Amino acid sequence: MLIAAGGVVGASAVGWDLFSPGLSATAAGAYLRPCGEVRISSSWQGHKNRNPPSGEPGTDYAVITGTQIRAAANGVIVDRKDSTTTATGRYLALLADDGNYIRYLHLQSSTVPLGARVARGQVIAYSGASGFGSETGYGPHVHVSLWIGGTPLQLGFTNSVDFENYVEVEPSQPPAEDPVPLHQSTTYAWNTVVPHGVWTPIRVTPGQYYLATTGSTIKETGDITIYLSATGVTHGFQLRVIADVLNGSGAKVGAAAQPVVEIPATRDTAANSQTFGQYALPYFLSGPLRLYAQIRALNPGIKVQEVTVKKNFWQS
Ligand SMILES: [Zn+2]
Repeated sequence: MLIAAGGVVGASAVGWDLFSPGLSATAAGAYLRPCGEVRISSSWQGHKNRNPPSGEPGTDYAVITGTQIRAAANGVIVDRKDSTTTATGRYLALLADDGNYIRYLHLQSSTVPLGARVARGQVIAYSGASGFGSETGYGPHVHVSLWIGGTPLQLGFTNSVDFENYVEVEPSQPPAEDPVPLHQSTTYAWNTVVPHGVWTPIRVTPGQYYLATTGSTIKETGDITIYLSATGVTHGFQLRVIADVLNGSGAKVGAAAQPVVEIPATRDTAANSQTFGQYALPYFLSGPLRLYAQIRALNPGIKVQEVTVKKNFWQS
């Protein structure tokens, strides 16, 4: 059904097919939003812009009191407050397995005890509006704050980062047609810090993720090249392509990961020096499939600046 011959620039050629044992894998996303796709009533930047600035900048998700809150990642509950006092009200803190620290504020209640191991997507609390000694210290919402690589006590409460830059962006709405036109390339400025140690999808253009899609009757032969520039690379980053396997209705029923290519840091480790990465994949697709690429940062603070995706393909 699928025979894709992968060749990687700067690395030995690889071959793959979806039916080889061990190649089947589920695409790992980044953090899960607490309550799905809901309105953001105040952004992290909005918190920072307040006068005075928020002491714990985060993202406010507008949800009615009593909404389920799901864990962003696998990890351990390392702090829990059950009183409505102070600006935080009730809260939970999750130390994610990647070493990052996440707090959920203004809760109605928590459903997991201190020290509990939780799974990504598990319900850990119900949202509220608690704070300043009241159940209604705010309008109803959940505030999520994130610190990279340490606790807020170590890093400073004001040194949180924008959780929205780290949420899962695995695409859910396949495009009607291939997003990258035949024999063309797209270039865009991403300017985003990618999460450390988490596979994060790479967009083709803003809002588009898929490199190729094929239906049950169309066969597609092509080649894809991705170029990236990034700063803050002290160790390196990895790139790979995921093939989603679809059923006849276009729903995802499986996924297979292409072998990983590792891009080391450039020798010049000055803070603002750029590291360039290149990934190339000749492929042959047959059957309902779609491809997208992912990046995984091997050190914290890697900011991808510009992405160029080139694609040639032929259908039969
Ligand atoms: Zn807030």
